[in-house]
Amino acid sequence: MEFVEPKVFLIGETRIIEEGLQAYLDHVGAPDWTTDAPSDSERLCEVYGRLCYRSFGPGLNPNVTRVRQGNKPYLDHILDVGHGSVVEHAMLNFVFADVSRVMTHELVRHRAGTAMSQESLRYVRLDTLSAYVPTHIRESEEGMEVFVKTFDQLEGIQAALAEAYGIAEEKSFDRKKKLTSAFRRLAPIGLATTIGWSCNFRSLRHVIETRTAPDAEEEIRLVFGKVYEVVKDRYPNLMGDYEVVEADGLPWVKTTHEKV
Ligand SMILES: Cc1cc2nc3c(=O)[nH]c(=O)nc-3n(C[C@H](O)[C@H](O)[C@H](O)COP(=O)(O)OP(=O)(O)OC[C@H]3O[C@@H](n4cnc5c(N)ncnc54)[C@H](O)[C@@H]3O)c2cc1C
Repeated sequence: MEFVEPKVFLIGETRIIEEGLQAYLDHVGAPDWTTDAPSDSERLCEVYGRLCYRSFGPGLNPNVTRVRQGNKPYLDHILDVGHGSVVEHAMLNFVFADVSRVMTHELVRHRAGTAMSQESLRYVRLDTLSAYVPTHIRESEEGMEVFVKTFDQLEGIQAALAEAYGIAEEKSFDRKKKLTSAFRRLAPIGLATTIGWSCNFRSLRHVIETRTAPDAEEEIRLVFGKVYEVVKDRYPNLMGDYEVVEADGLPWVKTTHEKV
């Protein structure tokens, strides 16, 4: 077996189409509106928020005589009042690699504002098994021995099944798929695999809050601690209200603006 650590890759983010935004600003009567957003995601969320009250400048809405200036004050206010639907507009795209099916099974419970693509163990045949070893196992020599021995044994079972069914020589992809799917039943859920996960900022905030808390499972806490590290400076006005405290050796990412 191989020992691995969960990895977080941010592979995509929302981008503004400048001509389209400018055409809308011309249309609404605010052609000179600009902001100081550090990212397109934050600028986009501000645009959608201002669209609601036509608050790009005083007078566009006869009821509005003053408007809040600047992306940070604007988004701070959105988070303060819990106008969370505005931050649903911008999306992020992650890949989580070397994460177990324990972690992915917990992750896929978050349905709202998310999309997933999971490595198929019907199609991808297992050979070497790799795993993240949780702290409690690592801390015990005896526990480590049982863990490694069991993984090695299960790895051997995959090889034995592959040999018994001659899957390497099999020509029919359909049969290979069926066999691969049958063999995976003898794989452990601690097995490291890959999942692609996209989310909007409202969901991202909720998942970071619930999954870095001390009552969440170790591996998903580790992953979302890393996710927070990746996003905190890139989107300071959407993610800057968090503080990190340590709990059981892992970051607990907390805010007073929970579940906006
Ligand atoms: C520490 C911990 C332990 C857990 N233990 C268990 C367990 O033992 N067994 C188990 O089955 N699950 C368990 N879960 C999973 C948990 O019950 C949720 O399914 C999971 O956290 C997804 O969160 P969510 O419900 O907020 O959904 P999300 O999809 O993240 O949705 C975000 C929010 O949108 C709203 N929303 C989403 N979908 C709907 C809907 N259909 N209708 C109305 N509002 C909606 C809700 O306000 C929801 O909180 C655990 C989670 C944690 C963090």
